[in-house]
Amino acid sequence: APVIEVDGVSKRYDARTTVQALRDVSLTVADGEFVCLVGPSGCGKTTLFRLVAGLESPTDGEIFVSGARVTGPGIDRGMVFQEYNLFPWKTVEGNVRFGLDRPACECSDCTSRVEELVDLVGLTGFEDAHPKDLSGGMKQRVAVARALAVDPEILLMDEPFGSIDAQTRDRLQHELLDIWQRTGKTVLFVTHEIEEAVTLADRIVVFGRNPGHVVTTIDVDMERP
Ligand code: ADP
Ligand code: ADP
Repeated sequence: APVIEVDGVSKRYDARTTVQALRDVSLTVADGEFVCLVGPSGCGKTTLFRLVAGLESPTDGEIFVSGARVTGPGIDRGMVFQEYNLFPWKTVEGNVRFGLDRPACECSDCTSRVEELVDLVGLTGFEDAHPKDLSGGMKQRVAVARALAVDPEILLMDEPFGSIDAQTRDRLQHELLDIWQRTGKTVLFVTHEIEEAVTLADRIVVFGRNPGHVVTTIDVDMERP
């Protein structure tokens, strides 16, 4: 069974207009797959991301994650956004810890889980730093660690490298693929750059210029680096 199932989903933000951010979109994502949503600005990528995340509800249709209908955010879905969304007053360690089910718990299991995550994203030694002292790339590594803290089934990423310079982005893409291979997560990744999608995805879901619907999907058949 697919891990993500989007079934005939439409989304209208404003009931007074006929403008649809999504029009009858259906797609499935299999366990462990890395799927990129690609398309021009305004085509509905972020809307689909937010619906799968449970941050918005569909106007029509249904979304299932691991067979359960999405009715709101849940710990089965880790999220990473373009603008990091870290807590500026918390340290790296505090931000990652916040992703845990019980962030206040200081037991040795929780503490070693945080250490393991900081290590996974290559930030060992920076546990006590605050976001303002970190580069963009490092901040996004913290966000990835926080999103993975409860070992979610799915990692949802909305243009996570969109604010990061090209060279660092290249490195982060390869780090993400490495994490994906090591953790076996199912990833749904939004980008407006086809080159990024080709680098990362098993399958690319392409939205059209005429907003709201999927035009095609592309299987990316290549050897991974
Ligand atoms: P993308 O992520 O591909 O740029 P979005 O999903 O953000 O596209 O937007 C799809 C359409 O929905 C656009 O026409 C956008 O203006 C509209 N839209 C997005 N968010 C909202 C919102 N919160 N309220 C009203 N309209 C919105
Ligand atoms: P940016 O996104 O601003 O380009 P990077 O992620 O490339 O930032 O990091 C900028 C600098 O921060 C690096 O050149 C390096 O010196 C330092 N840095 C980043 N990650 C680490 C790390 N895991 N360990 C030590 N230093 C790091």
